[in-house]
Amino acid sequence: MVHCRSCDGEFIVPILSASDQLRIAEVARAGRSIEAMNLLRQFAGLELRDAKGVVMHVTRFPNVCHRCNGALPGFGQTECVKCGSLNFDW
Ligand SMILES: [Zn+2]
Ligand SMILES: [Zn+2]
Repeated sequence: MVHCRSCDGEFIVPILSASDQLRIAEVARAGRSIEAMNLLRQFAGLELRDAKGVVMHVTRFPNVCHRCNGALPGFGQTECVKCGSLNFDW
């Protein structure tokens, strides 16, 4: 489980291959959240609530916080230094 300091959400981190992560990020960035959630359920077997939490935290632009648009310190699962929000920068 991971915990996001910004929204106080808690959810399971999916175990995915790099290509699955990229595919989900592409779908989420295109604004197709439901489809991204379905892919997470299909690829990682997540429950709907966990899939929703993960999709919410996927970056909309690479290396940019999904919440405050601040620059992120790292790649993959990373925490924004500005707002404390968890990000999946896939
Ligand atoms: Zn959050
Ligand atoms: Zn932020």
